[in-house]
Amino acid sequence: MSIPDAPVHGRAIGIDLGLEKFLTTSQGTTVERPKFLKSLQSRLKVLQRRAARKQKRSNNWEKAQIKVARLHHHIGNTRKNFHLCTAHNLCDQAQTIFAEDLNTVGLNRGMLRKECVDASFGAFLSLLEWVCWKRGVYFERVNPYGTSQTCPECGATVAKPLSEREHICPECQYQTHRDHAAARVVLLRGLESVVPQDLGEWKLSGNGVLSGISDLDKCRSRNAIL
Ligand SMILES: [Zn+2]
Repeated sequence: MSIPDAPVHGRAIGIDLGLEKFLTTSQGTTVERPKFLKSLQSRLKVLQRRAARKQKRSNNWEKAQIKVARLHHHIGNTRKNFHLCTAHNLCDQAQTIFAEDLNTVGLNRGMLRKECVDASFGAFLSLLEWVCWKRGVYFERVNPYGTSQTCPECGATVAKPLSEREHICPECQYQTHRDHAAARVVLLRGLESVVPQDLGEWKLSGNGVLSGISDLDKCRSRNAIL
């Protein structure tokens, strides 16, 4: 059965999944990485170590295994809840959401590190896609290549190592947190892929970078008049 996806409409945002903050939007709002997950993870490590020391197949070994499995289950649920709340929260903020496509083969090193830090990014994006679909929010993945190395203001390439947390453009002097810059680039890429290219006035004249579109309804009604 195929149900049509939500159309591109309303307020559009881009999101960047990150190392410091769980998520940063193109509007500059952030979602913290939940602390309770961290403490549960370290508790899990303790239990796993303890279980490993027990004699295999003994009664105590079995008990320890059950404890580990229970906590695993609990962590999974807690994370899923956090993901679900975050997804709904994003759907409250926008009617069109763009995110980096982390399934793309040949991710750059920064991306791979992201995956190492939180392997659940993929799970979150799948859940977000589903929540968006349920709530009539348009969701699209964009090419993640170089999102953190591009200036969202002028389109210049601004190379920076992962350790550098600020985006400072030598071309146009635009300055912001690197994750915010990346989220804005994600938004621009998404818009470029869905907004008709012939809407000349929605483009910056020089470099072809779309800018200033935060309300696609405006864009569409304008399009209808044209
Ligand atoms: Zn710039």
